[in-house]
Amino acid sequence: MVLKRLKHFIKSFTLWELLKGLRLTGRVLFDKKSTIQFPDETTPQSARFRGVHALRRYENGEERCIACKLCEAVCPALAITIDSDQREDGSRRTTRYDIDLFKCIYCGMCEESCPVDAIVETGIANYHFEERGENIMTKEKLLAIGDRYEKQIAADRKQDAPYR
Ligand code: SF4
Ligand code: SF4
Repeated sequence: MVLKRLKHFIKSFTLWELLKGLRLTGRVLFDKKSTIQFPDETTPQSARFRGVHALRRYENGEERCIACKLCEAVCPALAITIDSDQREDGSRRTTRYDIDLFKCIYCGMCEESCPVDAIVETGIANYHFEERGENIMTKEKLLAIGDRYEKQIAADRKQDAPYR
């Protein structure tokens, strides 16, 4: 008991805990820093990463989506809402295609189920909402993302990634 108290006293007197902490600081002081300067620097992204969605078009500008609603049916979070109508030429297209990003769990089942590679999840991870309702990705927004990033989306899908 006395020995234990003496030990405690010596440790307190010599600032033992502080020295232990400083030893650890000294050990990692000259190590390679793991902090990155975002947004100028980013960490590597997995080929499997699933970010915000996009709707794609064919090269002639025609929408790929044929309103089959498989993605809507398969979505486990019920995040997709589709309305569709028949065009004058007899083809079927969506009149509404909404994804609620607050419901979405980024499982990738929508893109897995799509028979025409229309709905995809891009590698875009950095996005935010400023106004109420911006979590709803409308057809126009999804097509705009698809138009803007088509080159990257097409390149990603050519990669030999397990989920693509
Ligand atoms: S990623 Fe999954 S949860 Fe999100 S919309 Fe697609 S199927 Fe639904
Ligand atoms: S995105 Fe694909 S799965 Fe969904 S409705 Fe369109 S064609 Fe069908």
